[in-house]
Amino acid sequence: MSARGGRLDVVVPSSSQLAGENGASMKPESDERYSRQVLFPGIGPEGQRRLLQARVAIAGCGATGSALASLLARAGAGTLRIIDRDYVETSNLQRQTLFDEHDAAESLPKAIAAARKLASFNSQIIAEPHVSDLRPENVGELLGGMHLVLDGTDNFETRYLINDYAVKNSLPWIYVAAVGSYAITMNILPGETACLACIFPEGPTGAVETCETAGILNSAVNFAASLAATEALKLLTGARPQIRRTLLSCDLWRNERAEVSADKPRAECRACGKRDFVHLAGKGRPHITLCGRNSVQIHEHHRPIDLSDMSRRLQPHGSVRHNDFVLKFWKEPYEMTLFPDGRAIIKGTTDTAVARSLYARYVGS
Ligand SMILES: [Zn+2]
Repeated sequence: MSARGGRLDVVVPSSSQLAGENGASMKPESDERYSRQVLFPGIGPEGQRRLLQARVAIAGCGATGSALASLLARAGAGTLRIIDRDYVETSNLQRQTLFDEHDAAESLPKAIAAARKLASFNSQIIAEPHVSDLRPENVGELLGGMHLVLDGTDNFETRYLINDYAVKNSLPWIYVAAVGSYAITMNILPGETACLACIFPEGPTGAVETCETAGILNSAVNFAASLAATEALKLLTGARPQIRRTLLSCDLWRNERAEVSADKPRAECRACGKRDFVHLAGKGRPHITLCGRNSVQIHEHHRPIDLSDMSRRLQPHGSVRHNDFVLKFWKEPYEMTLFPDGRAIIKGTTDTAVARSLYARYVGS
């Protein structure tokens, strides 16, 4: 039986500050399901109860997000909020472990495909999909009420936004990244440890290696996610003294490892020292952005779009196909993916003017 239908006979540990309102329940089936994890002394029955009450946001559900969501769902984190703006493609399947060929053929939004897959192996937890781009306007709505945020993003702009929100609201989050054979992660406990802006006051400048340019080993992804998921388990079960207080990076191909202390916030830090949350204010967040190789995202129009209706309108102009979540329109040499909230990803150009004009011509300005 799914916990989605409502609360079952939930035993909320009164000592736990993690007790949520809609957490999954600890019932006899759970005893069996989590038995090997409960046997581990660091977790135990009390730790498992806390996990089942935990509310965790996975910000971005690509490669690291998939691995993080999968580990936490299997471990019994009661509510997982999956936030992702993108849809599944064949090139994702090498490392994005929650998706399959069917999801790619359907171009399903990653958040939807992820929630379905999570439910298929743990129907006792709640997996909440949000097909959304995390932005200053919606960060409060998407991350509010969570106990922890896990970084499944692929860019520093969104990470600084998460960091500003988390520091301002004393919400723990875990920075995770992987590129090539390199993995890096850091726990951020606002007010206690360094934040992302303490360690990296400015985002990387110049050419930054990404999965699109440097490639990526799936093992580096899963390694980074495993480190972070373990820290999440410590945090959610109350094992505070065990939480790692360093920025840890490893290159799995070159056999290199480095650790930098992140034990204390930096007094002059913009975010946790001066409490200047520029990224929450949305400065420098254009509504039209490059998004991966050879594609542009447009989200300047917030208008609900009826995908069946739009599909009929676009029929005479190219090939078009849609399902409940997404519409695809091919107009050589471009491919437009349209979401019900009016957001679009246009492939085949890096020119924002070209993308905007295509959008205006076919969807409306
Ligand atoms: Zn800081």
